Amino acid sequence: MNPSHIEHIGIAVSNLETAISFYENVLGLKCYNIELVAEQKVRTAFLMVGKTKIELLESTNPEGPIGKFIEKKGEGIHHIAFAVENIEEQLVRAEKMGVKLIDSAPRKGAEGLDIAFLHPKSTSGVLIELCEKKVR
Ligand code: ZN
Repeated sequence: MNPSHIEHIGIAVSNLETAISFYENVLGLKCYNIELVAEQKVRTAFLMVGKTKIELLESTNPEGPIGKFIEKKGEGIHHIAFAVENIEEQLVRAEKMGVKLIDSAPRKGAEGLDIAFLHPKSTSGVLIELCEKKVR
């Protein structure tokens, strides 16, 4: 897939403001955007570190994916997102290689990126997100 870099690391947190305060005050990063992604039932805060973002994810509903994740595993790293080109082709190729996909076609993620997830069963236990910034 030749990802150019890690686009972001998604971290499930139970309280967005508490988590932001840690990343800002202890690590010295700056939160530049907070976005509600209603479809995913999360509130997301973004901080930049080099070319990589930290994406803090707070559930807005216990039935959402982050709500369920925190109930099962507690707070922590939820997924790692790689920046790729031609995301549709990458998904087709991965599926041909026997990789289990969560999304067989890209969908809209936060910040207008096209995103798709690979199933942790095929990735040694890590939820991997592919994302592509399409210039429109
Ligand atoms: Zn993500």
